[in-house]
Amino acid sequence: MKISIDAGGTLLKIVYIKDDNERVFDKVPSLNIDDFIEDLNKNHPDADIYITGGKAEYMSRKLNHDVNISIEFDATYIGLKQLMDEQGLHIEHFVYLNVGTGTSFHQAGPDGQKRAGGSGVGGGTLMGLSYLLTGIEDFNEIVSLAKEGNRDEIDLKVHHIYAGDASPIPGDLTASNFGNIKSGDRKIVRHADELQAVIALVAETVSTIGINLAAGFETEDIIFIGSTIRDNDVMTDIINRYVSLKGMKPHIIKNGEFSGALGAMFV
Ligand code: ATP
Ligand code: MG
Repeated sequence: MKISIDAGGTLLKIVYIKDDNERVFDKVPSLNIDDFIEDLNKNHPDADIYITGGKAEYMSRKLNHDVNISIEFDATYIGLKQLMDEQGLHIEHFVYLNVGTGTSFHQAGPDGQKRAGGSGVGGGTLMGLSYLLTGIEDFNEIVSLAKEGNRDEIDLKVHHIYAGDASPIPGDLTASNFGNIKSGDRKIVRHADELQAVIALVAETVSTIGINLAAGFETEDIIFIGSTIRDNDVMTDIINRYVSLKGMKPHIIKNGEFSGALGAMFV
């Protein structure tokens, strides 16, 4: 058996390749990394192990196996290309954003990828701000409650500022995330509204980064991966809308958060 792991800041993404080539995806909170290492040492002593991500060196020190380590940006690109291929997305010149705990963004061409930068606004921001505002710390609970919310009272829109006068950009665009909150509003805003506004802050920030990166790289294709967007309808709806509004093409890759884990065994 091959076990290929992307050991990230929040989640360990794991791909098991069984001897009959069946592929099984799994995720384990990075907080449980020591239990997972123990499980590998105990129950999979003969597996071929490949690891990438920020916690790869830590894992390799504690594993009894002869581990193959790779740089996460290389592994993620290889795995992403494989998923794109499998999902029928055949493009060679594009940008992609890995919205993990933090966000890293990349330009990809026929010769490979180049990391163009990073932002501290990512899935960790979503989790941290959500918890501070509402006390909710479960990702699935956050994304499902956010769906029922309405951020109109929280976010300041362009049309709020232009107040009926013609605006040079669509009035529905966000002028200021959380900028519509006034003194005294604290009690009337519901948790669902706050959570939707938090997700929108992250979604709009990463979309804007992607749009500018794509424009500078002369492509329309912007790919989003990372566990932050997984089963997160509020986030993906905003990304799709924002990017399309700019005349660009957003692509959400299925199982995209496993790109690094998938690619680690091929680097
Ligand atoms: P990095 O690459 O920045 O080191 P990572 O690889 O751990 O981090 P991802 O797994 O891509 O990052 O994304 C982590 C984010 O995914 C979290 O911050 C959270 O917003 C979201 N998330 C999705 N599912 C879960 C979950 N079950 N538990 C915790 N966070 C989750
Ligand atoms: Mg990661």
